[in-house]
Amino acid sequence: MTRETIGGCALEYDAEATRRYDRRITLCECAGCRNYRAQIRKRYPELAAFLERFGVDAARPDELSWVEAGDGTILYDSVDYTVCGRFFEGTEYRAPLPGRPETEAFIRDEYVPNEQTGEYFTVSFTGVRLPYVLNEPL
Ligand SMILES: [Zn+2]
Repeated sequence: MTRETIGGCALEYDAEATRRYDRRITLCECAGCRNYRAQIRKRYPELAAFLERFGVDAARPDELSWVEAGDGTILYDSVDYTVCGRFFEGTEYRAPLPGRPETEAFIRDEYVPNEQTGEYFTVSFTGVRLPYVLNEPL
């Protein structure tokens, strides 16, 4: 268990338990989600690094929401991950992702659709944009 204070939020989390959770979650098989998983770690290393301390794999989100931007890219307007742990002070951390001012990072004590069975908190991002790279129509 790791205890950490991030921007006024005091957190406790278990990165090992989160890694185990991450490996067994069901992933969405729609083209938008597969497109995200295929390239997020390579194109957004800052996002992957932000998640790594918690034991979260950037390519295995709990929940994704996306829209076609019309220029060959997909805007992922909300991407949610969950971490085995809990808040014991504060309810939300929010800041631009380091090195990516257009992307905002959130750590929240709130619900997102997930398969957790114990205590958890969420790590989310808005404003992630990726090219569509799959060899099939969207
Ligand atoms: Zn999907």
